[in-house]
Amino acid sequence: MKLFEYARASRPADAVGLVAGHPGGAFIGGGTELTNLMKDGVLTPDLVVDVSGLDLSGIGVGQGRLRIGATARMGDVAEHPVVRERFPVLSEALLASASPQIRNRATIGGNLMQRTRCWYFRDVGSACNKREPGSGCPAITGQNRWHAIHGGSEHCIAVHPSDLAVALTALDATVLTLGPDGRRSLPLQDFYRLPGSTPHRETALRHGELITGVEIPQSRLAADSRYLKLRDRATFEFAVVSVAAALTRERGTVRDVRLAFGGIATRPWRSPEVEDALRGRPLNQATIAAARRALVEGAQPREHNAFKVELVQRALADVLEDLGGR
Ligand SMILES: Cc1cc2nc3c(=O)[nH]c(=O)nc-3n(C[C@H](O)[C@H](O)[C@H](O)COP(=O)(O)OP(=O)(O)OC[C@H]3O[C@@H](n4cnc5c(N)ncnc54)[C@H](O)[C@@H]3O)c2cc1C
Ligand code: SF4
Repeated sequence: MKLFEYARASRPADAVGLVAGHPGGAFIGGGTELTNLMKDGVLTPDLVVDVSGLDLSGIGVGQGRLRIGATARMGDVAEHPVVRERFPVLSEALLASASPQIRNRATIGGNLMQRTRCWYFRDVGSACNKREPGSGCPAITGQNRWHAIHGGSEHCIAVHPSDLAVALTALDATVLTLGPDGRRSLPLQDFYRLPGSTPHRETALRHGELITGVEIPQSRLAADSRYLKLRDRATFEFAVVSVAAALTRERGTVRDVRLAFGGIATRPWRSPEVEDALRGRPLNQATIAAARRALVEGAQPREHNAFKVELVQRALADVLEDLGGR
């Protein structure tokens, strides 16, 4: 591992100042992701600023919103009674993420900023436009079983890995930040970028901008939510496909619905067309079939991941039937 300096910040503004003032600076939360990437030589910061001790770990409801601090641990958020009761999709997504050991250490900010699991990205011996702009994308014609069927470009088809981000996307969450130019609130929809021709630029964050928390509107919809994750094995593993769904019904008709999908796209995938196919209609087989079709409209499967087209439709149908049965 390359030598680096370590600093521990006691105030958010100090953390921002340290990283913003240092081109090779990076924040570290729980370190479950950054240290692995540093050991493998994928990331090589020369200053690491520890934010895990900042007073940003609160979890609470106020003014109709749930607010989760960026340094809250994944495990604590998953088990929090308010999250479990009023935002079950968040709790379920977190409990389906990583292992208990990792969840006890990893932070919400770090989870949202984790990098793709594309093996070419993580192998410094491979070309990869995301790691080294302009070097190429071997996944397009290579091992692309885990890769995206939506949102890709000729430059990158890596899927976004965070289960939490998928659940937050379905709940219309906002990311709160502090940067050298002050505070910002970014809807999660705008936080993650599509790869286009610049796959190395993954989020709207600027260098030195710290995630301080996330805010989620409280609603009946959020309380009627769930997360379904399909993976290659039952223990810790990333999603092959996942669905975060929140749905309310009135006299058998879908009153409101929010859906987001993981494992199939280059960012947490929100599809207004699928929601439109459901909203205001009876939750019957014909409606579900229309939603399934809308979900895979325009999908671009590759040689090894065409199975995701059918799999994600089945996952959607399962979640809808489950929520409809409540
Ligand atoms: C074996 C294994 C299995 C896993 N399975 C899953 C899974 O199924 N689902 C899933 O979602 N995740 C999974 N993960 C990923 C895991 O959830 C992440 O490693 C963890 O959430 C990262 O959090 P951290 O606090 O340790 O981040 P760190 O390692 O500290 O940081 C990660 C990145 O975030 C940046 N960062 C950290 N905090 C902030 C902040 N406040 N503001 C701005 N940038 C910040 C860092 O600079 C770094 O780039 C798995 C990881 C492992 C090792
Ligand atoms: S899919 Fe993206 S991350 Fe993977 S090799 Fe191609 S450019 Fe790199």
